[in-house]
Amino acid sequence: VWNNCLQYIKANIGEQSFTTWFAPIQPVKLENNVLTIQVPSQFFYEWLEEHYVHLLRKAIDTQLGPNGRLEYSVIMDKGNAHQTPYMVNYSANNRAQYGQQMPTNGQAVVETKRVPDAQLNPNYVFENYIEGDCNRLARSAGHAVAKKPGITSFNPLMIYGGVGLGKTHLVHAIGNEIKQNLPDKYVLYISSENFVNQFIEAVQNNKTQDFTAQFLQVDLLIIDDVQFLSGKEKTQEVFFHIFNQLHQANKQIVMTSDCPPRELKGLQERLLSRFKWGLTADLQQPDFETRIAIIHKKMKADGIYIADNVIEYLAYTVDTNIRELEGVLISLIGHATLTRREIDLELAKQVLKNIVHDIESEVGIDFIQKTVADYFRVSLDDLKDKTRKKEIVIARQVAMFFAKAYTNHSLKSIGYHFGGRDHSTVIHAVQSVEDMMDTDNKFKTSIDELKKKMKIKAS
Ligand code: ADP
Ligand code: MG
Repeated sequence: VWNNCLQYIKANIGEQSFTTWFAPIQPVKLENNVLTIQVPSQFFYEWLEEHYVHLLRKAIDTQLGPNGRLEYSVIMDKGNAHQTPYMVNYSANNRAQYGQQMPTNGQAVVETKRVPDAQLNPNYVFENYIEGDCNRLARSAGHAVAKKPGITSFNPLMIYGGVGLGKTHLVHAIGNEIKQNLPDKYVLYISSENFVNQFIEAVQNNKTQDFTAQFLQVDLLIIDDVQFLSGKEKTQEVFFHIFNQLHQANKQIVMTSDCPPRELKGLQERLLSRFKWGLTADLQQPDFETRIAIIHKKMKADGIYIADNVIEYLAYTVDTNIRELEGVLISLIGHATLTRREIDLELAKQVLKNIVHDIESEVGIDFIQKTVADYFRVSLDDLKDKTRKKEIVIARQVAMFFAKAYTNHSLKSIGYHFGGRDHSTVIHAVQSVEDMMDTDNKFKTSIDELKKKMKIKAS
């Protein structure tokens, strides 16, 4: 049955879309007119639902008739397939119910059901939290806390870092890990914003006792984005009280913030001093390798394939934070699917241009060479030639690095623009620059300054 459906679908959409979204689907079973198909990820499921629901419905109609139903089974990131509560329902009932909305075709209509959200996002686990230099301490501290909540000296554990760097993911991972290993522990996740709102509501209803009491039950309290408590004196007071009680009872507290505790303005000193009792760990911007690894992970999770040169391009270009990197990836896949194009470098550049404003075709090799030569005060001719003087070698490597990151040129073409070197020299240059950025802060600052210059030109 599924094969026939596939034939139908194939005849109605582009090849690339078919390969991306339908080839990976596995039929699981057909029972009582219900066809179950297995999809590689939650994201994949949502994408199908959003973009291909009508097509799927028609395909099912041709095979099972209007009473046929389709159910999805989503392979979870952890590797165990399970039956999801999501289903696409084609029953006659629904047809009647939705008939008015879809008067013309009189066909079955789709209904999606969702279970209520748990506080913890089951997709945020350690298994898919990529480790890198940028997060090593925070990640291992989180892991230690998850193994022995309340017992390690990491109490409270305070994770801080800029937006999109993985704070929320990490603290959910801690919660999920504890729930899995120590199921009778009571884990509570709450954003500071919700904490404030719930407190205000409790005050209005004269229920502040109840409000406090619910938090005193927990074994692990995760409170996200505490910078949001800033300036909210009453809420801070009640939080201070909860904090002390839990801490005294050896209950684990995990907090996140968008800046280091000492920079948290508008928070009472006594709270801040308590935040320092345990361990404070930061999340940095992801380095290049970590960005590559994150793209790989995401591709695998979503069951899609992207060529290496495109992955590298994305990793070079989107260096701000992980959320942005993921956003770009999703847009790219979206573009490819909607325009029925293959995901290649050209498409990646086009999509990125709309999202990240950094890169523009205007930044060509000539411009990069001139900017870098000026910056390092070396002669442009030397830069483009074969001199092996140390300052020139470094400037040249930097220029190659930018040429690779910011232009369409192939490695071979870049080599050609620098005195006819071969592509391995360019790879080596890029690598050296990456390494130096990791080890030499002054050098990293230079690169950042250069980046800014390129961005100004681009905008
Ligand atoms: P923050 O709370 O710091 O703003 P999030 O935890 O919401 O950031 O992370 C943003 C996105 O990046 C999420 O989709 C998250 O899954 C992903 N992410 C962050 N860090 C990692 C990591 N180390 N490995 C894999 N994905 C990550
Ligand atoms: Mg967050």
